[in-house]
Amino acid sequence: MPPHPPSQTEPSVPTEEEDDDIVRPRQHGFDWPLERSQIIAWANILFLFVMFWTLHAPFLPYPASVVLSAIFAATSIAVVCLKASSSLMQTADDGVAGELVYTPKNFLNIVVPEGKILCMYCKTIVSENCKHCRTCDKCIEGFDHHCMWLGACVGVKTYRVFFVFTVTTLFLMTFQAAIGWYLFAASVMDLELYELKVRRIHNVTNATVYQVFVFLIALYETCGATALGNLVMFHIYLKISDQSTYAWILKRREEKRLAEARGEDTRSTTRKIIHCITCHKPASRPGGTEIEEQTGNTSKP
Ligand SMILES: [Zn+2]
Ligand SMILES: [Zn+2]
Repeated sequence: MPPHPPSQTEPSVPTEEEDDDIVRPRQHGFDWPLERSQIIAWANILFLFVMFWTLHAPFLPYPASVVLSAIFAATSIAVVCLKASSSLMQTADDGVAGELVYTPKNFLNIVVPEGKILCMYCKTIVSENCKHCRTCDKCIEGFDHHCMWLGACVGVKTYRVFFVFTVTTLFLMTFQAAIGWYLFAASVMDLELYELKVRRIHNVTNATVYQVFVFLIALYETCGATALGNLVMFHIYLKISDQSTYAWILKRREEKRLAEARGEDTRSTTRKIIHCITCHKPASRPGGTEIEEQTGNTSKP
């Protein structure tokens, strides 16, 4: 069996000079350096926790405040544990830890067993259902996608944990957004009461500042929950249609390539509108040169 061919998203085949590189894959999602999106995700979680315990929980009526705070605390702990687990769990194929067998000189002589492939980046033999992630620099068993919010890949070994994490986070954001909207509405209806509460809890005399904060956070969480809801629905669709995110991307890419070959305009509606506004030209293209340019650009994910 031939060595594992690089996909369009993978780096080029290493030359003999580059082959002296040491294979040093990321062990888990907390390996240094952390991804920027990963840091943003943790900061976001911390920010929302602080907002709940300062702007939401103290203003809820008793005894609902006790029950709702307990639900929030339990779900928060679950979100942190699931996120950390998704980043820490091993996603690499078992073969990645195996003996390094590949060199540009000897790869034609390597005997690859049935159901296995030779990865020239990991320099070892791995399972057939692997894809090499260039960010993690290792072959991922049952590759689904590389999650920049986790700083790690989602593969067959971590898919369930990842899915439970997204559903739990969706619940937490929806829960906190609902409480935020309730408090905002309650403060609008009884401003005097909330002026007293704000003065007692935060020693602030103007309840309008509190209202603005609660409104903005509720809006922010509603937007976040909507985006997360879309992601959960997308993964339910993938599960029903029995495909991975990566397989879906490859399918979409191939469909786009074929459409472009037929001379069809494959840009999204948003891009068409932006193009129309910025270039002052009709959204539809006559085909020809631009299509050829885009066709030649399909190597980008
Ligand atoms: Zn590999
Ligand atoms: Zn990865």
